[in-house]
Amino acid sequence: MAERSKGKCRYCGKEYAFGYMGRHLAACKKRQERLAAETGKRQCGYFEMAIYGKCDHDYWLIVEVRDTATLKDVDQFLRDIWLECCGHLSAFEIGGVSYEVMPDADPFWGESVKSMNVKLKSILEKGMVFDYDYDFGSTTELKLKVLDYRTGHLRGEKVTLLSRNNSREFVCDKCGKKSAVFIDSEEFWSGGGLLCEDCAEDAGDEGMLLSVCNSPRMGTCAYEGSDIYPDQFEPDTDRGIEGAR
Ligand SMILES: [Zn+2]
Ligand SMILES: [Zn+2]
Ligand SMILES: [Zn+2]
Repeated sequence: MAERSKGKCRYCGKEYAFGYMGRHLAACKKRQERLAAETGKRQCGYFEMAIYGKCDHDYWLIVEVRDTATLKDVDQFLRDIWLECCGHLSAFEIGGVSYEVMPDADPFWGESVKSMNVKLKSILEKGMVFDYDYDFGSTTELKLKVLDYRTGHLRGEKVTLLSRNNSREFVCDKCGKKSAVFIDSEEFWSGGGLLCEDCAEDAGDEGMLLSVCNSPRMGTCAYEGSDIYPDQFEPDTDRGIEGAR
């Protein structure tokens, strides 16, 4: 089995595996310095959450979300970074309750369905683990875990990305040499279909080719990757804003 995927800490840029990153973030000196340097009158609570593919744990995110943000905000973030292909339905499953965008007025008997327009602070607690599904046809299943809760200065954004698995390299299934950039989605589900540029050209227009991207939805439906977030997460140290607010 391949080595578990690593990612970079937003604040110091160091690389760690997913299992250790939560502990690193709790102890990261650079992060503590940055948090101490944040200013403003308004205080706010933040949930730190790990989000990962239910089937493939090598896709993961660690985020901090304002406690006044809603599940709808988290849903939008997940769509933006990992999921959105054609506006499918989605749902969170938390403690036996399903939270949906437009809850059915007449749900199945015994099933509890609520709206995603609920603030995180009214439903989440440190230590909770829950599920999220995007698209009820070709579903991408995620798990979310609340790692921590803290209060601090109010930030401009609702969701802050603290770390993310590094962009993954796949080798072409045809030539076994070059890196794959396309996926034949029909073959992908039977354990192949990853193609480099040359082999994709040779294959002609057979099947539908999708882009390789850093997401647990890669190769599914019409998913082509995020328009907003680059596949490779750039820590603040790489972007020259170390020490900046
Ligand atoms: Zn760090
Ligand atoms: Zn789709
Ligand atoms: Zn090839």
